[in-house]
Amino acid sequence: EPGAKAATVTIELATPRGFCAGVERAIEIVERALEKFGAPVYVRHEIVHNRFVVEGLEAKGAVFVEELDEVPNDAPVIFSAHGVPKSVPAEAERRSLIYVDATCPLVSKVHVEAERHFKDGHHILMIGHAGHPEVVGTMGQLPEGAIQLVEEVADVEALEVGDPENLAYITQTTLSVDDTAAVVEALRQRFPHIRGPKKEDICYATTNRQQAVKDIADRCEVLLVVGAPNSSNSQRLVEVAEKSGCPKAFLVQRAADIPWAELQGVTHVGLTAGASAPEVLVQEVIEAFKQRHDVAIRLSETVTENVHFKLPRMLLTEDDDRR
Ligand code: SF4
Repeated sequence: EPGAKAATVTIELATPRGFCAGVERAIEIVERALEKFGAPVYVRHEIVHNRFVVEGLEAKGAVFVEELDEVPNDAPVIFSAHGVPKSVPAEAERRSLIYVDATCPLVSKVHVEAERHFKDGHHILMIGHAGHPEVVGTMGQLPEGAIQLVEEVADVEALEVGDPENLAYITQTTLSVDDTAAVVEALRQRFPHIRGPKKEDICYATTNRQQAVKDIADRCEVLLVVGAPNSSNSQRLVEVAEKSGCPKAFLVQRAADIPWAELQGVTHVGLTAGASAPEVLVQEVIEAFKQRHDVAIRLSETVTENVHFKLPRMLLTEDDDRR
């Protein structure tokens, strides 16, 4: 019968979810660069890992490329929130390109930490995922060989290091808090003198989104994470949900991806979004449920976030000064 709805579904809406301060800043950098310089503005790598965001900026005149050699000499270029190896700004300077670095300040903090360890003569281990642009960017802050990648506990045993007394570790910002704690524990067991960050490298947004999922996971039969397959922090939210008592968790890019077959008879659904996924896509998912079910939304806020990062000076206007 058209219009007939199935049983009521309770959606447990995780909070905080979605955009973090680094992603908001990166998107604003591209928007302001388009206003300041006019289109086209080039962006090296997806500014944040989300197709919807990227396509929205493309419509306004941003051109996404993978490498600097795809950028013409007379166009401005922006580096993505994930950070870039030192060779990238160096090449931009050699070519006298106008560039704006949208690297998240919390990623830059890890870069600075790595440099400090290097100056102090420490060999650095980086806990992270091979090939992720943030890892490529962070390892590219120092000469080849200065930083060695460790992906999981099993890698720790296999590590061969020159001077075990003289080690330090850093991490990617978007890792699983619990898995990373296990790797750090293994490192400390094997190398009791290893130095670590004063304050966690895993960022506040990653930590808070994982905690918010843990808080609702055991009340949910299925949990949906709005996010992209190449978004590290979104992938981690799927794992955290399943490890925290939710039987099944799925990554969906938007409403069209909702796995309805998996949701038959389910009355409690958890919903969150990775740090690069816009809230409109979360609302789109909720709307899709409302078309099929009576929906009750249950909000639970784990922590309140109030983080904002300054924009690069080059993109500030007189209006900003007056604020
Ligand atoms: Fe910055 Fe964390 Fe957001 Fe990455 S997830 S952009 S490190 S705030």
